Amino acid sequence: MSTATPQKFEFQAEIKQLLDIVIHSLYTEKEIFVRELVSNASDALEKLRHTQITEKEIFDDKLDLEINVTTDDKAKTITIQDFGIGMTRDQLVANLGTIAHSGSKAFVKALGEGGAKSANLIGQFGVGFYSAFMVAKNVKVYSHSWRAAEPGHLWTSDGSGSYEIEESDGQRRGAKIVIELKDDCADFAQDWKMKEILERYSAFVSFPINLNGKRINTIQALWLRSKNEIKDEEYTEFYKFQSHAYDEPRLRLHFSADAPLAINALLFVPKENMEKLGLARTEASVALYCRKVLIDAKPKDLLPEWLRFLKGVVDSEDLPLNISRETMQDKALIEKLNKVITKRFLKFLDEEAKNRPDSYAEFYQEFGVFLKEGAALDFTHKDQLVKLLRFESSLTEKGKTTSLTDYVTRMGADQKEIYYLIGPNRAAIESGPYLEGLKARSLEVLFCYEAVDEYVMNNVREFDGKKLTAADHADVKLTDLPKPEGALSEADTKALTQWLKETLGERVADVKASDRLVDSPALALNADKMMSPHMRRMMKAMNKEGADSPLRVNLEINPRSAVMKRLFETHSAAPEKAKLVAEQILDNALISAGLLDDATPMVARLYKLLESV
Ligand code: ADP
Repeated sequence: MSTATPQKFEFQAEIKQLLDIVIHSLYTEKEIFVRELVSNASDALEKLRHTQITEKEIFDDKLDLEINVTTDDKAKTITIQDFGIGMTRDQLVANLGTIAHSGSKAFVKALGEGGAKSANLIGQFGVGFYSAFMVAKNVKVYSHSWRAAEPGHLWTSDGSGSYEIEESDGQRRGAKIVIELKDDCADFAQDWKMKEILERYSAFVSFPINLNGKRINTIQALWLRSKNEIKDEEYTEFYKFQSHAYDEPRLRLHFSADAPLAINALLFVPKENMEKLGLARTEASVALYCRKVLIDAKPKDLLPEWLRFLKGVVDSEDLPLNISRETMQDKALIEKLNKVITKRFLKFLDEEAKNRPDSYAEFYQEFGVFLKEGAALDFTHKDQLVKLLRFESSLTEKGKTTSLTDYVTRMGADQKEIYYLIGPNRAAIESGPYLEGLKARSLEVLFCYEAVDEYVMNNVREFDGKKLTAADHADVKLTDLPKPEGALSEADTKALTQWLKETLGERVADVKASDRLVDSPALALNADKMMSPHMRRMMKAMNKEGADSPLRVNLEINPRSAVMKRLFETHSAAPEKAKLVAEQILDNALISAGLLDDATPMVARLYKLLESV
C-alpha cells in the first residue's frame, strides 16, 4: 500500500471519549504531560537497550541513548526526542490510536461508570501519551523504528477525533514528539519553566536528558542509593514516575540483601486499591532490573499473585544481563528472588502491624483482601499471612479489630476452637440469635463481613492448632449453663418440640431445645452441612443449580423465652392460632439466618395473626 499521501484514521471510540475529557477538563496539574512523555521516551530507550543485546541490525546504531528536549517560546512549541526503539507504521496505529495503556483503560472504564462529571479522574489515573492534548493544539510524532527496513513516519493529530499518518524521510531512530501549545499553555515553552519541571522528574530517568542542549540530570538509580540520603519527597516522586501513579504511596520498603542473592529493592504500596474501585484486576508491576538495566517492567513470577498490588523496583546483580523475558520462564533464579522478597515484605508488614497499628489498620482496610487471598491460596506463606489478618470481634469495639494471635491469648483454658460468624455488618451479627449463647459462656467470636471471608476461613481451617469454627454451624457443641428460673419443664419442652415438628412438617428436619439461646425465642441451623446460608445466597445470586433445592433446617427453641411459654399454653387450647405463631417463629429464625427465600406467605400470615389481636 502506498503511504506517500497522508492517510486518515479515526481514533477508537474509547480514545475519543478520553481525549474529549483530557482536552476539556480544567485539570490543574497540566505539567504531568512532561512526566508522561519523558517516561515513554525512557521506556523506549530501555527497550532499545534490550533489543541491542539480541539484535545485530539496529537502524542508526551510532546514536547515543538519550533524550533531547527543546523549547521554542516564539513558535510556542516543545519537542521531546528520544533515540529509543521507535514505532513502525502499524505500531503507531496500535499504540497511539487504540487504548493500550492500563491507566487509560481504567480511566475510560471509570468514565463509563458515571465518572464523566468529574474531571478530577484524570488526576487519579494516568492517561499516558494522551495527556499531551491537555496543552496541545496539535501533536506531531515523527518516528523511525529500530528496524532498518521500515521507513520513517509522521503521525499528526489535533486530538479531535482523527489522526493522520504519512511517510516521512530523514528521520532518526526513535520518536520525536512536537507539541504545538495552546495559547494559554504557552508558558511551557519557556526554558526556565521546562527546566524546573524536568529537574523534578528527571532524577529517576536512567538516560541523559538535555534541555536546549544543556544536560539536566545526573544519572542515579534511587534504589541503589543509601536510605538515609533519600528524602521522602524523592521517594514519592520516584513512585509517581516509575509506576505512572498519581497518588502518594501509602507504605514503602527499601532494602538490600547480600545473601542468598544480591538484591536492592524499593517497593511501594499505593494509596488505593484499584481493584476495590471495581476496576480490572491489577497487573503485577514491580519491575525487574539487573545493575540498573531494565530486564522486564512487568515480570509475572517475581512476586506471588496476591502481591500484585505492589509497585516499585527489584534490582539483582545476580541476574545474567542478557536474560530475556523468554528465558525468565526457566526460572530458578526468579523463584529464589520471589522467596526472598516475599519473606522480607511479610516481615515488613508484621513490623508495621506491631509498631504502627493505626497505619496498618488503614492499609488493611484497603489491601486486606489481598492478604486474605494469599492466606487462602498460598500454602507456602499461609502461616505468616494468617497472622496478618484482622477481624472485629464480640470483644472489640465497633471499627476496631483483633488478630488471631491476640484472640488465642484471650481464650479460656477449656476453649478448643476459634469461633467466627459471618454477616453483612456488626449490627446484624449482634442482633442475630447465634451470638448470645457464646456470649453467655464468655466465648469470643470473630465477626466476618466480607464475601470472601467464608472461603478464607474454610481454606485456612485452623490457627495455632485451633480449629476455625462457624458459630452458626449445627455441629457446634456448647457447655451447659445453669438452668434459669421459670423455664418450661423438660417434659413440657419435649411436648412442645414434638408438636412443633409435626406442625411445621416438611419445613424442618428437626426441632429441639437449644443450649445456645439466651434471649431469642428460636434459631435456625442449616440442616445441609455442605451448604452454608452464605454459600446458598451466593449460589442463588449466580443462578447455580442446587440453590433451589428445598430448604430444611434444624429449629432450636429457647424454653426460657416468654414466647415459647405462651406458645406452650396456646398450642392445645387454640391450635389454629398456635400454628400461625409456630410458622411465624420459624420464618423469623430463617430471616436471622439469612435463609428466608420468599417473604410473601409471611405477610399474609401476619395479617391473619393481627386480626386476632
Ligand atoms: P504507556 O506508555 O503507559 O503504555 P501511552 O499511552 O503513554 O501508554 O503509550 C502507548 C504506547 O505507545 C506505549 O506503550 C508505547 O508502546 C508507545 N510509545 C509511546 N511513546 C513512545 C516513544 N517515545 N517511543 C516508542 N514507543 C512509544
